[in-house]
Amino acid sequence: MKITELLTDNRPLLSFEVFPPKTESGFESVKTATEEIAKLCPSFMSVTYGAGGGTSKYTLDIAKNIKTLYGVPTLAHLTCVSSTKETVKQKISEIKAAGITNVMALRGDIPENLLNADRSKWDYKHAIDLIYELKSTDSDFCIGGACYPEIHPESENQKDDIRYLKEKVDAGCDFLTTQMFFDNNLLYNFLYKIREAGITVPIVPGIMPITNANQVERAIKLSGSFMPQRFKSLVDKFGSNPAAMKQAGIAYATDQIIDLYANGITNVHVYSMNKPDVAEKIQSNLSDILGK
Ligand code: FAD
Repeated sequence: MKITELLTDNRPLLSFEVFPPKTESGFESVKTATEEIAKLCPSFMSVTYGAGGGTSKYTLDIAKNIKTLYGVPTLAHLTCVSSTKETVKQKISEIKAAGITNVMALRGDIPENLLNADRSKWDYKHAIDLIYELKSTDSDFCIGGACYPEIHPESENQKDDIRYLKEKVDAGCDFLTTQMFFDNNLLYNFLYKIREAGITVPIVPGIMPITNANQVERAIKLSGSFMPQRFKSLVDKFGSNPAAMKQAGIAYATDQIIDLYANGITNVHVYSMNKPDVAEKIQSNLSDILGK
């Protein structure tokens, strides 16, 4: 099933993300976590793709399992930065052969050793190049793209960021998933601006439940997200008590999701970090809202 078909539904929906293991020895535990999360019957599940190729070879296996073993619609991520045309085309044909129609088209983070490389020679410089590649292979792919309510860390200003986002959507992006954010007002403000800029595709907000204090620093470094005082107070108060921090982080994420539903968002994507217990708790907190 195409993700865009799910997004026309007016019921509140919840989807989850998993990431592949770094090594073969980690495959079984990721498989088990994926199965546990799939048992919650989310609207769809996404599987990330290692930018430097580190974990990329397992993305497709996990995505295939989600679809065929557990019957949950799946979204396979694919990145293109510093990859050759040959590699990317090969990956796309594998995705197609696996019968996966939903693809998240990403540039990926530029590996540190290539930050000063001459990018003019790269086959793919931005996600838009991958979108063209996907569309030219099969116009039936349902393509997702990433967007950044607090602007992409490399962008100089939001105006340019939104201008490039519009180009990406016009190139064939069917929906957009957001970077994590901890203040819903930032999302509402962003939505207003992108709608004004003529971007009309469905937006899937991404919510990251912070369940331990160590995650906070990493999340900010990764996303550059603003931490509201309400969230900082919670980490200050409960950060040194793992069980309390987990409970408070899940409650905070639940609260964000309820507010998003109340403000017209239909599908919220949870960065569940291969933690079935966290995914399950959030879903059970929303059981009546989701009708589950
Ligand atoms: P782009 O859309 O190419 O944008 C990157 C930057 O370039 C932005 O500043 C943009 O404004 C600018 N830009 C875009 N087009 C142009 C243009 N034509 N000319 C000049 N500038 C331009 N990373 C992974 O490695 N694996 C994953 O699975 C993964 N999943 C993700 C899922 C989501 C929902 C999000 C939000 C991010 C994910 N990432 C993942 C991280 C992502 O790869 C990085 O944030 C990366 O730095 C940018 O990717 P992008 O697809 O947004 O790039």
